[in-house]
Amino acid sequence: MRAAVLRRTAPAEEFPLSLEDLPVPSPGRGEVLIRVSACGICRTELDEVEGRLRPKLPVVPGHQVVGRVEELGPNASGYERGERVGVAWIYWACGKCRFCSGGRENLCPEFRGTGCDADGGYAEYMVVPQDFAYPIPPVFSDAEAAPLLCGGAIGYRALRLTGMRDGDVMGLYGYGSSAHLVHQLIRHLFPSSEVYVFTRKRGDGPSELARKQGADWVGETGDTPPRKLHCAIDTTPAGETVREALRNLERGGRLVMNLIRKESPVPELDYVTHLWEEKEVKSVANLTRRDVREFLRVAAEIPLRPQVTEFRLEEANRALLALKRGEYRGSGVLKMG
Ligand SMILES: [Zn+2]
Ligand SMILES: [Zn+2]
Repeated sequence: MRAAVLRRTAPAEEFPLSLEDLPVPSPGRGEVLIRVSACGICRTELDEVEGRLRPKLPVVPGHQVVGRVEELGPNASGYERGERVGVAWIYWACGKCRFCSGGRENLCPEFRGTGCDADGGYAEYMVVPQDFAYPIPPVFSDAEAAPLLCGGAIGYRALRLTGMRDGDVMGLYGYGSSAHLVHQLIRHLFPSSEVYVFTRKRGDGPSELARKQGADWVGETGDTPPRKLHCAIDTTPAGETVREALRNLERGGRLVMNLIRKESPVPELDYVTHLWEEKEVKSVANLTRRDVREFLRVAAEIPLRPQVTEFRLEEANRALLALKRGEYRGSGVLKMG
């Protein structure tokens, strides 16, 4: 099978993925083999290829996978051959520790990430433990469903963690794959709420997409919005947005940081300006299978419509560089075949 493989971390400009012919993996006990049709591109893959995360090496990246069940391993059950399924960032968790048994398998110390600790979907085939795949609602095409599996599902978790209620003002810092989906979700779940969007530069591509999707106000990272924010979600790689979001929070407001690594350090915070009056800051780490299932159900009801830019598997390096440079809007997706 063809696969894009990371053997050595390097800046995205150096095209670190190599396109290789690998044997089709065979499903072990309780695993299923999936023929991949689409795999979403996530900022976490940039963190992996550039070495801010430590993936196993070599690794096939990709954790927003849509495909069809090709083969069941020994003892695997519950799927028909040809059934469409998705795989998300959670590849495996132990199921026994206090986090797993308390409904927080996302924090399992043995958590394994798809396309990081196990081979993922930048390939024509992948295997996954049977309990870590999900049926995909028919309302979505393969390419539409892919970005729902991380950008959408972790965005949903981040939104839940903000504690947002209808009528609250939400600030979105950054407007990429996840934020443009969360925005659609907010408009559905909290119709009386205003959504303010902060992008790198006035008039840039993300800000145009935000306007098109009905943002109530759009500005730059350093701007002061018309009203204080009751909650905010930060999806940018810049450390500076943390301080900016905290500055603009209403008293008692909460900022949730939805990303796995910052590319630049969070600047010094001033206690009175940024934290006092019960402001909170919280990160979101990974996701649970319950997050994925719940989110897919809500997403299909609306239904969410990701703005997708497609690339071929052969273009994986170029796609990651395009993400780094902000050259496409919404969600990038690799299409196989
Ligand atoms: Zn992701
Ligand atoms: Zn565990």
